[in-house]
Amino acid sequence: MKIICVGQNYPKHIKELNSKTPTEPVLFLKPDTSLLLNNRPFYLPSFSKNIHHEVELVVRINRTGKHIERKFAHRYFDEIGLGIDFTARDVQSSLKLTGLPWEKAKSFDFSAPISRFLPKEPFSDIQNISFSLEKNGELVQLGNTSEMLFSIDELISYISSYFTLKIGDLIFTGTPHGVSSVKIGDRLIGKIEDKILLDFSVK
Ligand code: MG
Repeated sequence: MKIICVGQNYPKHIKELNSKTPTEPVLFLKPDTSLLLNNRPFYLPSFSKNIHHEVELVVRINRTGKHIERKFAHRYFDEIGLGIDFTARDVQSSLKLTGLPWEKAKSFDFSAPISRFLPKEPFSDIQNISFSLEKNGELVQLGNTSEMLFSIDELISYISSYFTLKIGDLIFTGTPHGVSSVKIGDRLIGKIEDKILLDFSVK
């Protein structure tokens, strides 16, 4: 399986990072070694002094597809979950300056905690789902999929024109604003609507 991540998909997050609004989706990949499951603790890597949380809605692909038309994209997933796209912001900033790839900053071991998945069917509108992240009991990120620059269906269609999507592939659909550093001892709780899906500590 592969993890495809979308960067810069929420306007207020683009603003907080002083990035430019993209004209097409920004994509990068994480390998399967970045997965962190079952709310296991996240250990800070030694190569960064500034690891940021980015809470994101995650879509799990349920059938193989390539060049998927936007109008059929909804048929390619039936579950959603919550993930954190942990980012070594200091490493990313220096890579950005020199125009180099982001992988060292984004795709390191255990940089992708992922929750259990929920069937999408009970949600009446997939583009109107709120999700949030609390750090030590304080609300730090609150987003709604209605704020996405590129909708989930647009993303699936766009991604599938570059990468064949396969069963079990995961798409991180971008983070809303409110990203900040994590430190040892922090507890992160992530919710979709009012359902707790992520609850783990930083070590
Ligand atoms: Mg992200």
